[in-house]
Amino acid sequence: MPGGLVTALGAEAPARDGHRGPVIRLTGLSKRFGSGTASRPALDDVSFDVGQGEVVALLGLSGSGKSTLLAQLDGLQRPTAGTGTVLGTDLAGTGDAGLRALRGRIGFVFQQFHLVGRLTVLENVCTGALGSLRGPRLGLFTYPRAVRERALEGLDRVGLTGHAFQRADTLSGGQQQRVAVARALMQRPELLLADEPVASLDPESSAQIMRLLRDIADRGRLTVLCSLHQVDLALSWADRIIGLRDGRMVMDVTTHGIDRADVMRLYSEVGADDEALTPAAGTE
Ligand code: ADP
Ligand code: MG
Repeated sequence: MPGGLVTALGAEAPARDGHRGPVIRLTGLSKRFGSGTASRPALDDVSFDVGQGEVVALLGLSGSGKSTLLAQLDGLQRPTAGTGTVLGTDLAGTGDAGLRALRGRIGFVFQQFHLVGRLTVLENVCTGALGSLRGPRLGLFTYPRAVRERALEGLDRVGLTGHAFQRADTLSGGQQQRVAVARALMQRPELLLADEPVASLDPESSAQIMRLLRDIADRGRLTVLCSLHQVDLALSWADRIIGLRDGRMVMDVTTHGIDRADVMRLYSEVGADDEALTPAAGTE
């Protein structure tokens, strides 16, 4: 790990009330697709801790490994080397059922919302509870009343109560993403992961979604890890920025007092190696 911008914020974060250990702990985590040894790993020796209630932005060029990292954390893929625990679950050593159980404790928000367009907004939110219900559901009234009530509370939370009975595909992109956030909250997640949740949205809707995620994190002391394209959003929204380049973690900084130009080095083409991310003397 190069020096300079790298801090050990996560590792040094004090245990907060009632919390036992970090929410995320990765040690030398690597992920390689396929069996060819010549191929470059999608994730290469990534190590960091995230404590409860931390709000972390994941930055890096397209192809730097952000989605792959989120997929390891959600237990959707298994690392090929290294160790990782999320909410106390060992990512490499836990069976499929254990990883499914882990996913039930993690909310995930996608770039493309993934709503069922022909269903109402409220029913889409209810589907967020499917992991805790038996069997398939079709139609709003096949969900228990308690689930429907909680879905309405969720819609209120994201400011869309008035749209509950509208078809999801009639909403704007920003509104659809707010529905997706309400759906993710249905499972009362202990960790929220978001993969470029505002990449398809206009600047105003993007800021609204990030404010919403921040507010949810602050009120519930929810830990959030969110990949983003926009440095300025990351700086204004997150407590901490983790930067990836070619699958390696090359930046781990608190956003407090950080210089934007230092973060922009993550995207510089010139000198595309880790040294480029170490600020010159006197820049801090
Ligand atoms: P990002 O989300 O930062 O754009 P990704 O995590 O999607 O980056 O990709 C990181 C690298 O891993 C890329 O080189 C990509 O082509 C590769 N990759 C991602 N998923 C797969 C996969 N399922 N099979 C093979 N290669 C993959
Ligand atoms: Mg991606």
